[in-house]
Amino acid sequence: MASVTIERIETRLVDLPTIRPHKLSVATMHGQTLMLVKVYCSDGVIGIGEGTTIAGLAYGPESPESMKLAIDAYFAPAMIGQDPTRIQALMAHLGKLVKVNHFAKSALETALLDAQGKRLGVPVSELLGGRRRERLPVAWTLASGDTFKDVAEAEAMLEARRHNVFKLKIGAKELKADIRHVAEIKRAVGERAAVRVDVNMAWSETQAAWAIPALAEAGCELVEQPVASRAALARLTGRFPVALMADEILQGPESAFEIAKHHGADVFAIKIEQNGGLFAAQRVAAIADAAGIELYGGTMLEGAFSTVASAHLFASFANLQWGTELFGPLLITEEILTKPLDYSNFELAVPNGPGLGIELDEARVKRFTRDGLVKVTR
Ligand SMILES: [Mg+2]
Repeated sequence: MASVTIERIETRLVDLPTIRPHKLSVATMHGQTLMLVKVYCSDGVIGIGEGTTIAGLAYGPESPESMKLAIDAYFAPAMIGQDPTRIQALMAHLGKLVKVNHFAKSALETALLDAQGKRLGVPVSELLGGRRRERLPVAWTLASGDTFKDVAEAEAMLEARRHNVFKLKIGAKELKADIRHVAEIKRAVGERAAVRVDVNMAWSETQAAWAIPALAEAGCELVEQPVASRAALARLTGRFPVALMADEILQGPESAFEIAKHHGADVFAIKIEQNGGLFAAQRVAAIADAAGIELYGGTMLEGAFSTVASAHLFASFANLQWGTELFGPLLITEEILTKPLDYSNFELAVPNGPGLGIELDEARVKRFTRDGLVKVTR
């Protein structure tokens, strides 16, 4: 019998409004739903994790609702009574009981790491090998769907010294309109900011082959997931004077190895949820480093908990050539922490308290919780 055991697991869905509609090639978001999970341990320590997707089921196979269901019905009963301090062993055990469900696993692993950090009095970054940096550059996504509004938003961000790297969501419109949009924004910000695009797999290979040189000509420095096919992305990589980044096709270490083996991308967008947790994402980063592929810290537009979990991991990476896009909490109108995160000087400060180093504002979150809490106990 382990000296510390898991006694109770609680899940809830928190529906939060966004500061403006967020337009991607796959969907337009008007709000964000966080699935928050709390793991209560017998030593009194409570860990919190988060699962969040982009626009429900529009982006991938899991939704906040499906994560909650998977945890309530399958993960939680298998975790009650288990040792929360042996995180890798427990996650391997859960991996045998539940296939895939990467986002739900990431939420649970985050909660276990938060608890273990609190128990030992160290930040999560120290459980991952130790941080190499205290602050992370954070890109902002311009996705209002309107060039004029996007330029105004970029100017406001530069003025506030919050972001000087802008990612534009394109792929929903006709190619020439998209390229004009990118060129106009780059012309407006000039040398003051970098401009990148995310196509979210919207183009065919021939569309991409036509559009990518035009984007490079417009001053765009990075094109994220222009096509859905891994093989097509590999054929496009190295042909143009602009870096190509894999995002959606990165689904854990095996997929990372396949892409690396075929010289399938210049850059990997690492996401803890998409890869199945922090340890899996760490292995993806190791594969990238070994293959000479550069790294970028991606987001699922997560709230504070998954954003900070990602920050602890990215802070520990040997290489982070393209910075991060950990702006998720800034897209949400409500502050769910008792103390807001420090976004300043174009960077996010990685919290340095025990565990994730952040505290949930229970009263505020309660107002936005859907249908109340579900508790699973023995
Ligand atoms: Mg992306």
